[in-house]
Amino acid sequence: MKPAPFEYVAVSSVNEAVTVLQRYGTNSRIIAGGQSLLQEMNLRQTRPSFLVDINGIKDLDYIRETTNGLVIGALTRHRTVERSEIVRKICPLVQEAVKHIAHFQVRNRGTIGGSLSHNAPGAEYGVVTRLLDAEIVVVGPDGERIIPAEEFFVSHFKTDLKPNEMITEVRFPALPKETGYAFLEVTRRHGHIPIVSTAATLMLNPDDTVKEARIALGNVSNNGVPYKVKAVSRLYGQKITPDVLADLAKEIEAEVNPDPHADSEAAYIKQHSGITGRRVSEISSATYRKQVSSVLSCRALNIAYQRIKGGI
Ligand SMILES: Cc1cc2nc3c(=O)[nH]c(=O)nc-3n(C[C@H](O)[C@H](O)[C@H](O)COP(=O)(O)OP(=O)(O)OC[C@H]3O[C@@H](n4cnc5c(N)ncnc54)[C@H](O)[C@@H]3O)c2cc1C
Repeated sequence: MKPAPFEYVAVSSVNEAVTVLQRYGTNSRIIAGGQSLLQEMNLRQTRPSFLVDINGIKDLDYIRETTNGLVIGALTRHRTVERSEIVRKICPLVQEAVKHIAHFQVRNRGTIGGSLSHNAPGAEYGVVTRLLDAEIVVVGPDGERIIPAEEFFVSHFKTDLKPNEMITEVRFPALPKETGYAFLEVTRRHGHIPIVSTAATLMLNPDDTVKEARIALGNVSNNGVPYKVKAVSRLYGQKITPDVLADLAKEIEAEVNPDPHADSEAAYIKQHSGITGRRVSEISSATYRKQVSSVLSCRALNIAYQRIKGGI
């Protein structure tokens, strides 16, 4: 397939990009790594009249340590994050998540800004930004806005970005040294977008009871927004034991509420994999995703616990 005709503009600064986006209006789209946009254009699901190429904005490609954590420029490739010593030191969960994105060819080109803007259900960056309460910095004609991850994701493939805005940076808080963490997912095949993705962090008190625990899940909410599990708060003050995790698993299965409509449409999976109909809903039915959510969540917490105890 070939895309519909379009005009192409390459820009070299954020100001230039915003000006060009304003000039061409809603018919224009940013292109970064092109790993999601070009598929959509080739399949004619998207027909932008103007492509604004931001690959020339070299100062959007960076990873830096700050007093509070870590900042990553929007044009930073997944592969750079995967290999970064700074990410490993400050927020290793982000690195663990990125390793699950696609195949290395896609990670060589895809960017953090592109992934967050695209907001595919289950996407790894969405789940970790939501879990860690990251902030997304965007710039538009009215200047800069800082959007908490909680407000950034709006629904399947939709975010709070306005048509003339672009992401410039993502800010992650540092994970305290004593934090256990894990990222797990279920996919049809290695490198595919996840059917369910899970990120967890865990902190213990000196007596081994839970001080803080978080779990976020991708592709299990009824609105396409990465989901933060509420039931995990029941662990506070308790020790992590197989019985406690088994109870938590039941509560998570009851709590999550995957969108059954997405089964028939099978959002991303159906669009991009070429499989259709019944097979898709068998693979990613709401019931299946509910069950997988609880199993993955408890496994992730267990791994986080083992990490604290030096078992991993
Ligand atoms: C085979 C394959 C497998 C994949 N598997 C996974 C997977 O397992 N997990 C996963 O998360 N992703 C997966 N992806 C998608 C991949 O991660 C993409 O890199 C990512 O979704 C988009 O990043 P990009 O830089 O390529 O963006 P592009 O494709 O260039 O753009 C995507 C969208 O974001 C917009 N955009 C890009 N940059 C900005 C910006 N700075 N500000 C505002 N809007 C912007 C574009 O206008 C477009 O709407 C896969 C892709 C392929 C081809």
